[in-house]
Amino acid sequence: LAGMLESMGSSDVSIFGTYGFTESRCAWGECPTSNDLSSGYHLYPDKEIFEIVDPDTGEVKKEGEDGEIVYTSLDGRASSVLRYRTGDFVKGGITYEPCPHCHRSLPRLNSDITRLSNIKDLQLSKVKGSLVNFNNFSLAMAEVDLVDEWQIELKKKNDDPFEIDELNVYVSIEKECNKEVLEKEIGKQLLFATEVTPNEVIIVSREDMVDRLEIETANKEKRIIDNRPKD
Ligand SMILES: [Zn+2]
Repeated sequence: LAGMLESMGSSDVSIFGTYGFTESRCAWGECPTSNDLSSGYHLYPDKEIFEIVDPDTGEVKKEGEDGEIVYTSLDGRASSVLRYRTGDFVKGGITYEPCPHCHRSLPRLNSDITRLSNIKDLQLSKVKGSLVNFNNFSLAMAEVDLVDEWQIELKKKNDDPFEIDELNVYVSIEKECNKEVLEKEIGKQLLFATEVTPNEVIIVSREDMVDRLEIETANKEKRIIDNRPKD
């Protein structure tokens, strides 16, 4: 990205990231170090408690050790989370050494963060910033009587890897129904089960749905297609 910006005429490009998740309603920033270095995300110890735990046992790890990021909000309003398991895995954990760039003594979270679902074969993934258990898609769709078969497609807007997530629901229906009613019902059930709303509901014929799901050709039907680039 830095190379691309420089080739377009920008000088002195510095890129730094932020880390955040919906449940925190907060984001943590890096210092603008040179592009081959990362200062890590600067935490706010007066506002929160970050812990790094073993994702299998829940045991709290020591400074600098790998593990799952667990978050407790200390000044949350209206709704707050306690020891919330983010589903994000950080290599190098948290360091308490002063930042080499700004010299502040805030704890810093290493920026080498991956989704746990990439590491273990868990049906858990971040969708639109919320951690979603994919099994809940099935529970939600089973509640919609109007739907015969369904498939959920996750993609990036305009297929651009830097864009936001989109969730499209393909459905086949047994009998004619009002599309608005159908969309509303699917939206309601998905929001209830996963806290994520669909971008679009697309009605297809049963034949198309059988093809999409690969019911007759694959061992297991393809209910959820994740077309987002793997990071
Ligand atoms: Zn710093």
